[in-house]
Amino acid sequence: MPAQLTTIYIDMNSYFASVEQQFRPELRGKPVAVVPLDSDSTCCIAASYEAKKFGVRTGTNVGQAKRMCPGLICVQGNFERYIKTHHNLIAAIDTQIPVQGVHSIDEMSARLLGDEREPARAMQIARGIKAAIRERIGDYTTCSIGIAPNRFLAKIAADMHKPDGLTMIEPHELPHKLFSLELTDLPGIGKKMKIRLERAGLTTVEQLCTLDEDSLARAWGSVIGREWYLRLRGHDVNEGKVPQRTIGHSHVLGPEKRNPDGARAVGMRLANKVAARARHLGYVAEHLWLSVRYRPAATDRDPGSDKKWEGRVSLGSVNDTPTIVGAFTDLWSQCSAMSALRNGKPAFTPVKLAVTLTELTTQSAAAQPLFGGHDKLADLSKAMDAISRKFGADAVYQAAMQPAKRSAPRRIAFGNIPDLDLPDIQA
Ligand SMILES: [Mg+2]
Repeated sequence: MPAQLTTIYIDMNSYFASVEQQFRPELRGKPVAVVPLDSDSTCCIAASYEAKKFGVRTGTNVGQAKRMCPGLICVQGNFERYIKTHHNLIAAIDTQIPVQGVHSIDEMSARLLGDEREPARAMQIARGIKAAIRERIGDYTTCSIGIAPNRFLAKIAADMHKPDGLTMIEPHELPHKLFSLELTDLPGIGKKMKIRLERAGLTTVEQLCTLDEDSLARAWGSVIGREWYLRLRGHDVNEGKVPQRTIGHSHVLGPEKRNPDGARAVGMRLANKVAARARHLGYVAEHLWLSVRYRPAATDRDPGSDKKWEGRVSLGSVNDTPTIVGAFTDLWSQCSAMSALRNGKPAFTPVKLAVTLTELTTQSAAAQPLFGGHDKLADLSKAMDAISRKFGADAVYQAAMQPAKRSAPRRIAFGNIPDLDLPDIQA
């Protein structure tokens, strides 16, 4: 199959600094450095574009940064604000295309399917994402977007134009579109790797692109080199993808469960089961799907009138029970919006539920949680698995459902970034 566009990659520009400028208008247009604490001996963790013009970068010593950039405003990092904005960003992108991968607090990717792979349509989605972020968060939180035949190249494309870039690498532009880049512009080639490649006589991306698979494997000293051969040519290599792409459980409701409360309880149990199964297999999932077969109230007894409701929600590489059950209750509340009472009776009768985790990756291949908050949920889930093994699944079933009940109305978009119970911040 010829290579085609598959991935859209979104990288926020100077994320922490631009969030500060978004929330604090007095910082706009000014050189800003975000710092971990108020001390000249610490390092900048982000710099606004105005500060970058003076050479201030992530990692620049604060005292030195102040000398390089007179008038530099140092702002202490407000991580809760960045995490909250991260969730709002995912929600904004989700209005255009479901977020598939959360790679860091300010980088996400989405998978193009069907006619979304047409260049014009892909560009339209990218512009839609930019507009949605502007509308929901503001003008100061811009992003650079890359579109390409695989995620590796899409990230490179996003890096090509900053700030506020939109770059597409089409299959027919490979590999020559990469020739102007430095080796270290390629994700995965750091300083050490660069030295190793130079020792093998490789100093340019063009040279890298002329090598065959065996030579690349030799240069890398491992089979990873072969993967690079495919990546650079636009093959859709997705590291960490597993052969079993979904984990699902379904249940035909008994007569006593064919009502909104009964169906919800069954769905929670199914969500609990898929989460435990994912952990058992060592997988994390990007999406949760809910499929509900139901009968409209007027045709209660006629199986021929069955209809299907389907919805999905982004999870972002997780397998913990509270997040997955929370995502189920979110989907269930969307579905059961149909059950508004008509003549004192629910407007539909649920018949069958299916809960499915999709886009699985092996746990080790997924990005590690930032800021540690997510570990608590993972630890809680592991503890629940242990209790279930010892005392049976029902022992923790009720307790596990408690967080889900509380979180029912909220949109779950929980990635590697801790979810905070904060009031919505107005941009
Ligand atoms: Mg960024």
